[in-house]
Amino acid sequence: MTHDRQPDHAGALLTIDLAAICDNWRLLKARLGGAECAAVVKADAYGLGAARVAPALYRAGCRHFFVAHLDEALALGPALAADATRYVLHGPLPGSEAEFAAQGIIPVLNSLPQLAAWRALAQALDRPLPAVLQVDTGMARLGLAPQELDALCADPDALRGVDLRCVMSHLASAEEPANPVNAQQLQRFRAALERLPQTPASLANSSGIFLGADYHFDLVRPGAALYGVAPVAGQPNPLRPVVRLQGKVVQTRTIEPGTPVGYGHSWTAQRRSRIATVAVGYADGFLRSASNRAYVCLNTVKLPLVGKVSMDTILVDASALGEEAIHEGALLDVIGPECGVDELAARAGTIGYEILTSLGTRYARSYIGG
Ligand SMILES: *Cc1c(COP(=O)(O)O)cnc(C)c1O
Repeated sequence: MTHDRQPDHAGALLTIDLAAICDNWRLLKARLGGAECAAVVKADAYGLGAARVAPALYRAGCRHFFVAHLDEALALGPALAADATRYVLHGPLPGSEAEFAAQGIIPVLNSLPQLAAWRALAQALDRPLPAVLQVDTGMARLGLAPQELDALCADPDALRGVDLRCVMSHLASAEEPANPVNAQQLQRFRAALERLPQTPASLANSSGIFLGADYHFDLVRPGAALYGVAPVAGQPNPLRPVVRLQGKVVQTRTIEPGTPVGYGHSWTAQRRSRIATVAVGYADGFLRSASNRAYVCLNTVKLPLVGKVSMDTILVDASALGEEAIHEGALLDVIGPECGVDELAARAGTIGYEILTSLGTRYARSYIGG
């Protein structure tokens, strides 16, 4: 995938602020007592470019990096110094164990079969192999189920050959502080820790950090908050925005009242309107569900989307600016200071995570603050 499109050729400019990401990491770290702050850089650092984001975070002091897949961890290797630790949340898929050990990548072991395969490799190599163990405390997604934990605790040899670095779990509803599920998962996590060998523990994602010190343990694993996504539903966002997406105006026109606009004529002008066609569409990850709901900005002026999002374009009602204010080639903020990731997500019926991880490959990307 190339990210080196020329600004003059691309329909939109995507600017990623590495200094803001590092400031966000420091802000999260400052909320912790003694706990370490890792960085989750899976899915290409939530679409922002792990090859740029991870080294910036390393320079800020981060030493623990989580990804989902082995291939993501391998790709990260050249970007990080040897004292950085890479963890793979999915653990080893069958047949990939040896590659983990050869590359010094630490798997998160999520099931008894994964644990058994890791132990077998340790035995074959005749050396202890490092791993994180995940227990499921109420998500039914990844990690040992309660019966598996029982079986593990009943077998004195269960962890033989495993250099257990950490026991972790993951919260299902951390962005809702009032949700009783959080306390229930915390209690289950503590109960699991009591049954396992003494090791560092990790529970909190971005939002979990904001649930308070009880949730911090020894290592926290923020992703979204690093990239500016609000960690607590319905509360002001303390993090710096990271992404700016500026779409270019391809064409402008004035239409008369009664003129329908876009595919399916889902919007019709009620008055004489100035319409601008902007070169961002669903093929660029601008979600079609934002049709007739989102807005773009020129400075502080909000221009509503009208009609359906097309593959390569959106249409905006620029009447508020008057006839001559925007011209072909003008830049409008699709994501920016007055139209943040979370606001766009809410209007598209999704979460900021999906907006970021959908950011397309046709944008001219640039990094600032490196
Ligand atoms: C993705 C992920 C994280 C990071 O979550 P955010 O909500 O983005 O902070 C942490 N832990 C696990 C297990 C994850 O899958």
